Amino acid sequence: MAAPAINPGVTSFLNGKPKRMLIGGEWVESVSGLTFATTNPATGEVLAQVAEGDAADIDRAVSAARKAFEDGPWGMMTAADRSSLIWKLADLIEEHTEVLATLETLDNGKPIVAARRDDVGGTVAYFRYYAGWPTKIQGDTVPVSVPDMFNYTLRQPVGVVGQIIPWNYPLMMSAWKLAPALAAGCTIVLKPAEQTPLSALLLGELIQMAGIPDGVVNIVPGYGETAGAALVSHPGVDKIAFTGSTEVGKLIMRSAAGNLKKVSLELGGKSPNIVFADADLDAAAEGAAFGIFYNMGQDCTAGSRVFVQESVYDRVASFIADFARKQKVGNGLDESTDIGPLVTQEQLDRVSNYLNIGRSEGARVLSGGERMTAGDLARGNYMSPTVFGQARNNMRISQEEIFGPVVSVIPFKDVEDVVGEANNIDYGLAAGIWTRDIGKAHRLAASIKAGTVWVNCYGPLDPGSPFGGFKQSGIGREMGFHGIELYTEVKSVWVSLA
Ligand code: NAP
Ligand code: MG
Repeated sequence: MAAPAINPGVTSFLNGKPKRMLIGGEWVESVSGLTFATTNPATGEVLAQVAEGDAADIDRAVSAARKAFEDGPWGMMTAADRSSLIWKLADLIEEHTEVLATLETLDNGKPIVAARRDDVGGTVAYFRYYAGWPTKIQGDTVPVSVPDMFNYTLRQPVGVVGQIIPWNYPLMMSAWKLAPALAAGCTIVLKPAEQTPLSALLLGELIQMAGIPDGVVNIVPGYGETAGAALVSHPGVDKIAFTGSTEVGKLIMRSAAGNLKKVSLELGGKSPNIVFADADLDAAAEGAAFGIFYNMGQDCTAGSRVFVQESVYDRVASFIADFARKQKVGNGLDESTDIGPLVTQEQLDRVSNYLNIGRSEGARVLSGGERMTAGDLARGNYMSPTVFGQARNNMRISQEEIFGPVVSVIPFKDVEDVVGEANNIDYGLAAGIWTRDIGKAHRLAASIKAGTVWVNCYGPLDPGSPFGGFKQSGIGREMGFHGIELYTEVKSVWVSLA
């Protein structure tokens, strides 16, 4: 099979030279001079060497962000001008759809069709949505009962923000973090994931082209334990926003305590997707399959626990297993690919390990269950989409975030039974409910402990609708005005009228 042609914009972006980091409007090498390789998970080939930031680079970036926040043109800019710059950035991202989508597929492995439509399309939508906010971030006048006093509130940017993002949606996670922070008037140091730094670096070029002033967005690639940890503990950072594992989220909370940074966390999930016997079963089964296999299951909202009512269990479980078998697994650059490789060998090993755990716990493999190595697939991190039947909620495969194309299909008796099981988990990010009984759907939507509940659908998101986790799935809500709240402080101003 011939390798698909690479977009010329990508070739010129990669250009064989090490990629630098963006600090104070300059593209610079790391202080240490070190670089690290980022690879293509479909082939194992090195795509580029990338400057490896550590504490010294984070320090430079935080200084640049501080300078841009305190002294630069950003703070003097009118809200309308800030709004136009963010809108212009969105236009530039849209114009660069093909290059960005190709980079995302090369670096992360995801299917190019989804990269274009969802990752780049979603990124454009987020920046456009938040481009509208600067002119609407307003305070209140408060009818205080203290005589001869006028009281009002100002909503002001929180300051210098550190943002740390994961590898599953590298560009879109940059957008989720950057767009509201820019709208609020903050300055930023962004650390992309070591596995997928490329699209954020191209985004940095577009940020400059848009005319966003130097130092407002600084981008420092590097490892979590060095660059990430230095950003979280840096005394010059006012807030940390993080998306990634619950384990690292806990480390971040501890380490941010030094100067009591504000912290918002979007963490892991193990979301229930509940199919009742009275649902439109074809739609429900397809929604359940899509809900786990999208993005190779590397999704914090993946519906990785599918609960199916006993009387329709066999029918729904076999539909999902058939769906899994029909998925076309291959290089994400191929337009017909449904499922690309997992992001790294490490992730492949982790997922493979869970397949062994599931088998030893007594779950039955209904489809998939192994690494795929036929032909060209041998070069990449390919895992067959896997369905575990006769799974139970207390198995490790049903309690721990696998972050791969692996689903536990768990039978349940009735509403009471399934609410208890669905909530019997440390996570609370999302949930799906499939039923034609509208009363039952709304009662369940209220009872399930999760930040997002989908009824008769699974997965839609919108920049206006809040997103975040209950329990160990996180702290805070992104999207909508909630996103603005994360990046602003409220000030109460008292004026004597006497
Ligand atoms: P991770 O370690 O939580 O990585 C997320 C981000 O945090 C990356 O930028 C990472 O940098 C950084 N980081 C790691 N250790 C840090 C530290 N001590 N201080 C500051 N930043 C740090 O996740 P992962 O190792 O890539 O994946 C492991 C598992 O996490 C997955 O299998 C999955 O279960 C879960 N996960 C969840 C999400 C989600 O969206 N909820 C996303 C990704 C992963 P480096 O990449 O440079 O290490
Ligand atoms: Mg990569």
